[in-house]
Amino acid sequence: MEILNYINGEWVKPTVKEYFDVINPATGLVIAKTPLGTKADVDAAAKAASEALPAWRRTPVNDRVQYLFKLRNLMRENGDEIAKLITNEAGKTFEEAKAEMVRAYENVEVACGMPHMGKGEFVEDIAPGIDEIMIRQPVGVCATIAPFNFPGMIPFWYLPYALAAGNTYIVKPSEKVPMTMQFIFKLIEQVGFPKGVVNMVNGAKETVDGILEHPAIRAITFVGSTNVAKYIYSTAAAHGKRVQAQGGAKNPVIILPDADMEMATKIIADSAFGCAGQRCLAVSLAVTVAESKNHFTELICDAAASRTVGYGMDSGVQMGPVINTASQQRVEQLIALGAKEGAGVPVDGRGTVVKGYESGSFVRPTILSDVKAGSEIARTEIFGPVLSLMHVNTIDDAIQLVNSGQYGNQASLFTTSGNAARRFRYEADAGNIGINIGVAAPMAFFPFSGWKDSFFGDMHGQGTDAVEFFTQKKVVVERWPKEWSRKF
Ligand code: NAD
Repeated sequence: MEILNYINGEWVKPTVKEYFDVINPATGLVIAKTPLGTKADVDAAAKAASEALPAWRRTPVNDRVQYLFKLRNLMRENGDEIAKLITNEAGKTFEEAKAEMVRAYENVEVACGMPHMGKGEFVEDIAPGIDEIMIRQPVGVCATIAPFNFPGMIPFWYLPYALAAGNTYIVKPSEKVPMTMQFIFKLIEQVGFPKGVVNMVNGAKETVDGILEHPAIRAITFVGSTNVAKYIYSTAAAHGKRVQAQGGAKNPVIILPDADMEMATKIIADSAFGCAGQRCLAVSLAVTVAESKNHFTELICDAAASRTVGYGMDSGVQMGPVINTASQQRVEQLIALGAKEGAGVPVDGRGTVVKGYESGSFVRPTILSDVKAGSEIARTEIFGPVLSLMHVNTIDDAIQLVNSGQYGNQASLFTTSGNAARRFRYEADAGNIGINIGVAAPMAFFPFSGWKDSFFGDMHGQGTDAVEFFTQKKVVVERWPKEWSRKF
């Protein structure tokens, strides 16, 4: 598949400096090359989106969402094809890839509610004969900069809301996984949006900088690692743009002694090892409280050791590879760091070789036990299938440990006590909370939250937060004196 840009309704070759190899992480084979475009490509996309803006904005919202209904149907019809591309470029299993796309469809469906969600407000007679109105208008040209781990879903936390609200759009996929969006843009082309309404530019840092600096781009959403999120947030803000930036995570789960241990283990294993741990809502720190330690440790070690690892298109495979060999090496080095810091490694996924896929970047599920609070391994986002176990004696200590972390993307609790659950929900410093849930991923009609170093901005993606983000409010105060109406 040749990776091209989609600008002004045309497939165009980027102005390339170099290419980035897209590798199937299971086979190690190069399956495409991402053109690392320049600021000139961003400029062309921003120009097309600016020119398309006045007519798109004037298109009635009811008509705008008809394009999205069509897109949602085309995406669903082509769901297996999209999922296969995700598996081949991002490594997750075919079932995980299909599940990823369900959330993408759901976001398009929710955005189709824009005729209702985008309504303004009106108060008659704030003073005699004076009314006040709030109207939502589009922000203008908006852009999304996406990460590698959900190539099909993450741009859809934003794009459908932006378009439904009357904005025009630019997507910059991760250079590691450009094929999924390339295919989805073929569907966007089939939908027949007016030229310039939706555009795509491929590239890496230079392309991102082009987006951050471009005067015509008014709002930017970003999802990726925390250091880059901070850079995006501060640079976009310095250029006067509206910006939201989702960052990394280190998600803790507390296991109380009264938890249903079998259920907790299954769900926590799915969270920690699903998508090979490359999920911003993956549980990566399990904190056992009091006597839950031995039982949970035994069960989770069994679950980790028995997971079937391989190429995500092969049947029976429960976990695929990490994204590339650099990531595999990094994860293995972090496991070694954990051991050096005094953790046990009762299940060690280093040195994994999968028969038939010897060049794949596999790391089997790994358990680090007795991880010390404050150690580097307890703080670092590993972004691989590694679960660190910690132990405390009371729920107070556990909540304190959860709240001492740098990140705040998700925190979970496993218990059968309503009282403990309520307290945790109240006190935990994280934007997404799971009670007997391992991946507390908000449905499209809730904001995808995130606190602390996991999120920079005010409004989140999805649902009514996305409506807020992609509209600017205009307030109108009108005087219509009574005497004037008497003239008729
Ligand atoms: P990344 O930060 O390396 O890349 C994300 C995007 O930023 C890519 O499009 C990339 O081209 C661009 N980029 C990378 N370095 C840049 C730089 N120096 N300057 C400008 N642009 C740059 O992230 P990734 O490895 O693709 O994704 C994994 C990370 O994303 C993890 O940290 C994960 O936790 C996080 N993530 C967070 C959420 C969330 O909702 N909070 C969701 C998914 C992923």
